[in-house]
Amino acid sequence: MIEALILRTWPIHEADQIVSFFTRDQGKLKGVAKSAAKSRKRFGGALEPMTYVLASYVEKPRQELVRLDACEIVASPLSEPVDYGRAAALEFYVEVLEETLQDHDPQDAVFRLTLAVLEQTRAGRIWLPVTYFGLWMVRLMGWMPEIVRCTACGRAFGSEPAYFEAQHDGLVCVEHRHPAARVLSAESLGVAARMFREPVAALAEEEWPRNRAADLRRFALQGLERHLERKLRSVQALNQLS
Ligand SMILES: [Zn+2]
Repeated sequence: MIEALILRTWPIHEADQIVSFFTRDQGKLKGVAKSAAKSRKRFGGALEPMTYVLASYVEKPRQELVRLDACEIVASPLSEPVDYGRAAALEFYVEVLEETLQDHDPQDAVFRLTLAVLEQTRAGRIWLPVTYFGLWMVRLMGWMPEIVRCTACGRAFGSEPAYFEAQHDGLVCVEHRHPAARVLSAESLGVAARMFREPVAALAEEEWPRNRAADLRRFALQGLERHLERKLRSVQALNQLS
C-alpha cells in the first residue's frame, strides 16, 4: 500500500473511473479504477479529491495507466462539513498540484506540504493554509524570487514595502517600481519570512482573516499563474469568497 492523495476522477465506460493521484513515492500517476462507481468495498468514499489514502495499484508494462485496485482512507476532507470556502481551498490545492506536478516525478516536500495544509483546512481554516500553500509551491517549483532585497538595485527592504507586477518575477523597491506595480507591505514580507521558517501549524494559533497578507497571497498566486501560463479557475473562486 502506497501513500497517496487523490486529485481528480473522470468516469469512463460502465462504472469504471480514471483516477489522477499523487503518490508519495512515485509522484503523480493516472490509473483505472474498475467498477469504482459500484464497488463501495474497494473504494467507498476514498476517491473524493484530496482524500489521503493508502492505495494499492499495479503498473503494467508499456501502459500509461496503472490499475488501481483499492484505496483505504487515512484522512478524508469529508470527515468535517465542507462549506463553500473550504471547497474552494480544496479545489485550489487540486488544481495547483495537477498543473505543476509531472507524472512519475516524486516530490516529497510537496506531498508533506499538502498534508500539512489539508490538516489546517480540515480544522476550518482557509486563508492561512491557502496562502502558505501558494507561497511554498512557488518556492518548491523554483520560481520564488529574492524576497529580502530589490532585484534591480539590491537594496534590502528592511521596514519598507516592496513592489511586484503580474508580468515579471521579482520584488523591487519604491524607486524601481513600475507604475502598474502592486505593493507588498513590510508586514506581509515579514509573514512570508515566517512562512519559510515555520511549519503552518505554528502560525495557526493566530487570527487569519481574509485581508491578512492578502497582498502576499496575490503575489504568490500571480507567480504560479505566470509560470503555468494560465489563469487558475480556483483562484477566481477564492477571490469571490466574502
Ligand atoms: Zn531598487
